[in-house]
Amino acid sequence: MTKIDPSAAPAPRAPAAVSPTLPAPDHFAHIDTWIFDLDNTLYPASCNLFAQVDVRITDFIANTLGMDKETARTKQKDYYLRYGTSLRGMMIDHGMDPAEFLDYVHDIDVSPVQPSQALANAIGALPGRKLIYTNGSVRHAENVMTRLGVATHFQGIFDIVAADYVPKPDPRPYTEMVARFGVDAPRAVFVEDLHRNLAPAAAMGMTTVWIRGESEFSHPEHLGTPQPVPHNPGPHVHHVIDDLERWLVDLSGRL
Ligand SMILES: [Mg+2]
Repeated sequence: MTKIDPSAAPAPRAPAAVSPTLPAPDHFAHIDTWIFDLDNTLYPASCNLFAQVDVRITDFIANTLGMDKETARTKQKDYYLRYGTSLRGMMIDHGMDPAEFLDYVHDIDVSPVQPSQALANAIGALPGRKLIYTNGSVRHAENVMTRLGVATHFQGIFDIVAADYVPKPDPRPYTEMVARFGVDAPRAVFVEDLHRNLAPAAAMGMTTVWIRGESEFSHPEHLGTPQPVPHNPGPHVHHVIDDLERWLVDLSGRL
């Protein structure tokens, strides 16, 4: 394998493309910080775990605002599109206390997530630090990471509270996250199922990896009007994968 001189600037990246082959390990030889989104990234969207959170958000909005679930659902999706999270919409429009919301919506059964020793081993073998950056809470992240069996391999979690409730993809919390953990952006990789959340990371000089998926949660812009999943969503996406575990297992033995 060709080693890249860590002091040299990363090589220019080829445009993102979906191919049957996994991204070349050489593209990650300079990486010393691995930043992962949580939901539908560390575990596959097919677990439908986030669907539980989604339903509880609807319930919380309905109960808090005294409306029927259908109306609450419409408000929830409107907030998600306008503010990035329904939580943010409830805070701005209704002055809601975020702690109660986060406790309620993340009180879910994580058993649909399958523990994976292969994933844990692969993450553990990656050289450098591993961090979580989630629009959810630390408690939710810890529940999921513990269930997966990967918790001991991560050195930090940057959650929506740390982000002062400003969700991805607003660039401000990315700056805060990088400062808090002393991340050298050109030596960091950012892995996400929502490609729009990769744009600020790419702008900061990080390498980006998009986990392409069919879940509606991966394509909030398509809510209510399903559209084909794009193969190449834009220049902010440097690498496209379909399966995190498969990619990391391949990569971890080759760095
Ligand atoms: Mg996600």
